[in-house]
Amino acid sequence: MSTGEDLLRSRGLRVTRPRLAVLDVLSAGGHLEVDEITRRVRQRIDSVSTQAVYDVLGALSRAGLSRRIEPAGSPARYEARVGDNHHHVVCRGCGQIADVDCAVGSAPCLDPNVAHGFELDEAEVTFWGLCPACQSRRSADD
Ligand SMILES: [Zn+2]
Ligand SMILES: [Zn+2]
Ligand SMILES: [Zn+2]
Repeated sequence: MSTGEDLLRSRGLRVTRPRLAVLDVLSAGGHLEVDEITRRVRQRIDSVSTQAVYDVLGALSRAGLSRRIEPAGSPARYEARVGDNHHHVVCRGCGQIADVDCAVGSAPCLDPNVAHGFELDEAEVTFWGLCPACQSRRSADD
């Protein structure tokens, strides 16, 4: 497995401690809000500002090392799973997010009947529903 340093260098990014720490946090998996990323980065290195974390996330996203998702009504979240066309299921009850593999595998995964002459490169697909925990909470309320 390549290290954070290798990843940064392979994208032409300078290796810095905040960048390594953010990469490390993201590589643990999940879809994390900036506040949570900042909290975990501070467990690794002391003095890092929220703004610095935003800057790092911007640089990593532009370099294709992290992906930013922003479901409606939720703050932006970041993940390290990049380079595929996966989608997300979002729970309407608690906001939990999980990955869903793209059934087609590459963008755009949907072909509209009419594209109005546009050359399409992406369909933004988000599945909404209730996670298992929220489903059992709901049936307990009945
Ligand atoms: Zn839920
Ligand atoms: Zn994801
Ligand atoms: Zn798809």
